[in-house]
Amino acid sequence: MSARRYLAIAAAAAAVAATTACGGGSDGGDRALVRGAIPGLGAQGAGDASPPAPTSSTAPGTPEPTSPTAAAAPTVPAVPAVSWPDLPSDGTARAVVTPAGVVLPVTGGGDGAYAVSTPCARQATVAGTPLSRAHVVLDPGHGGDEPGAVGPGGLTEAPVNLAIAQETKRLLEASGATVVLTRSADYRIALRTRAAIATALEPLAFVSIHHNAEPDGPWPGPGAETYYQIANDASKRLAGLLWEEQVAALAPFGADWMADTDAGAKYRPASDGGDYYGILRRSAGIDAVLSEAAFISNGSEEALLATSAFQLAEAGAIARAIARFVATDDPGSGFTEPYPRTTPAGPGGGVDDCVDPPLE
Ligand SMILES: [Zn+2]
Repeated sequence: MSARRYLAIAAAAAAVAATTACGGGSDGGDRALVRGAIPGLGAQGAGDASPPAPTSSTAPGTPEPTSPTAAAAPTVPAVPAVSWPDLPSDGTARAVVTPAGVVLPVTGGGDGAYAVSTPCARQATVAGTPLSRAHVVLDPGHGGDEPGAVGPGGLTEAPVNLAIAQETKRLLEASGATVVLTRSADYRIALRTRAAIATALEPLAFVSIHHNAEPDGPWPGPGAETYYQIANDASKRLAGLLWEEQVAALAPFGADWMADTDAGAKYRPASDGGDYYGILRRSAGIDAVLSEAAFISNGSEEALLATSAFQLAEAGAIARAIARFVATDDPGSGFTEPYPRTTPAGPGGGVDDCVDPPLE
């Protein structure tokens, strides 16, 4: 639907929904994007390992629009050419796409009748199209009765996350990758099911797409945060590449940016020293990153997130970061030491009171 209609609907919801944390969860899209022409490969983000102090210098020569919603959107650099590797597979169905388009991890069966775990992590038997491997799995955060963080204008994370994931999928597929989304529409799906899809398909990269809330204060550029798996150096490199690409892609828009004072590529430990965020903890063994590119709780950034141009720019950044992760040894940048946090992440991601969508 149009952004205007979407915002009108979302504004009604805002009457009863206060701004909440993103809800990446300790355990816990229906808009078509403008299909703009994508010019040739442009400049990548700065490749150094400097601490995150995002400024316009991350995108030299790119003019700033006169307002956050200026019609002349920044151009989006193309995804670099990647020779996506053949994925060894024994042909086993590890996941299945049901006739309703819901992707589910397979737990058994075959020959057209697959035992699966549902989005709410219940057991079921379904028909569908089998999947064995994928180059990339993207995870649009939240959905259904879990909207995620809510902006002051009423825009919620879930549809924005899905729209950007769908666009990222399109860009990566155009470069030759196979890409699977954990969530294909507006329904609830538990963290354990999201992670099960990723671990089943063994992608080269797994990115969970979210948008942030509750910043510390104003910041000179995008306050992008990318969380990596503490015990995984490859996850850390992917987070550094993603931070680098996001800041370069988003800074030219101009906004009254907000951030946490430790914005950058970072980690969040649980009390036991492992990964706090369930999507990273449960996907151990896969190179995974949790992306919080912008603050939807900040009205200025919320207005940008509602636009196709900004969504396309963010999707391009995610796609380029993944392509560089696979095709290069670039180290990434923006690594920062996080300050300790005691505030829980937003709710959601569990299975209590979860209602499954129609599967077939
Ligand atoms: Zn979120």
